[in-house]
Amino acid sequence: MTGDILTLNAGSSSLKFAIFEAEQPDARPRISGKISGIGGAPVFSAKDAAGIALTSTQLAKLNPASSHEELIALLLDWVERHLGDRSLTMVGHRVVHGGRHFSQPVRLDDNVLRQLDELVPLAPLHQPHNLAAIRAVAKWLPDLPQIACFDTGFHRTQDPLATLFALPRALSDEGVIRYGFHGLSYDYIAGVLPDHIGAKAEGRVIVAHLGNGASMCAMQNRRSVATSMGFTALDGLMMGRRCGALDPGVVLYLLQSKGMDATQIEALLYQQSGLLGVSGISNDMRVLEDSDAQSARDAIDLYVYRAASTLAGLVPAIGGLDALVFTAGIGENSSHVRRAICDRLQWLGIGVDEAANDANEIRISSADSAIDVLVLPTDEEAVIAAACRTLMEP
Ligand code: ADP
Repeated sequence: MTGDILTLNAGSSSLKFAIFEAEQPDARPRISGKISGIGGAPVFSAKDAAGIALTSTQLAKLNPASSHEELIALLLDWVERHLGDRSLTMVGHRVVHGGRHFSQPVRLDDNVLRQLDELVPLAPLHQPHNLAAIRAVAKWLPDLPQIACFDTGFHRTQDPLATLFALPRALSDEGVIRYGFHGLSYDYIAGVLPDHIGAKAEGRVIVAHLGNGASMCAMQNRRSVATSMGFTALDGLMMGRRCGALDPGVVLYLLQSKGMDATQIEALLYQQSGLLGVSGISNDMRVLEDSDAQSARDAIDLYVYRAASTLAGLVPAIGGLDALVFTAGIGENSSHVRRAICDRLQWLGIGVDEAANDANEIRISSADSAIDVLVLPTDEEAVIAAACRTLMEP
């Protein structure tokens, strides 16, 4: 199959894209880029495979009601002009929620879209943007095949025990269960793990995806056994702006005693908490690491404490630990956060090589560490492109 694959990751404030050659499974994207600042003053930037900037353009403010349609039109037009003599053969989307039904990537049609619409209440801040991008592509290029790859899909291998809340069964039966997210990232790491640790990759591994959103996944045989995110992408680790695991009694208190409504509580838990809420300074780990403020240190300390506690809580699901992988923005770049998390886990047999950790090397465990500790860049777009190749008709 020849031609180009376009991957899209449509969020509320950014639209990330990459263009891959369909016939070159191991190649990096020919072009990658994003439109950031959606909702404010959007900026369109893109670079080629060598990292050379192709554009960085300030776009006009968009009509919020039609922003995805306008942005996708603009993006498709730009892509068309940069394909040269090649053409687009498929578009692959990152879609946050596939519910219980979609464990694998799926070819999109009206019927599938309807089913994905029904999952909007489970991911109200993410799913609508994903689906808007799909509909916009279908509007401008109705004959172009599109597929969806689900952030929940990787976790569908879990035993029901790991997915249940201790709630009345009727709620579990209607889908109030732990789904887990960041599946494309975990899928990528599971795919490359044998290149780095050989047969140990099939063992007991925890992957810490520490980006703006953050979660951990305990794997065995490179399949998800348990994960820290639950029914929504709010559970588990402390994140940039999200609170992570919270006593549900706090939500009741906010509702009943503080008189907050659902919209205000949603904003508090998703936008105003996490590193930003605790520091009062920023959701960006780099800013906090550079700050002398006590509140910045408090935020990082809490982030680390909660990460180590969550990791330790996942160990029983896999009965021990052979390898720990750090990935995503903070996991790949913050030697301080990695070292601090590992320091709290020494009792598990984790030892860190300071020099390797400071240099962001792939293997950062010390020679005497009982557990391999790795830093691996994730690549969700590569997973979407691979799914496109698999689902393309021969
Ligand atoms: P997203 O979930 O939006 O894809 P990323 O994976 O890009 O997010 O992660 C963003 C986070 O990574 C931010 O908190 C940012 O501060 C952090 N980060 C990026 N580079 C560094 C760095 N060099 N040191 C510390 N933190 C970093």
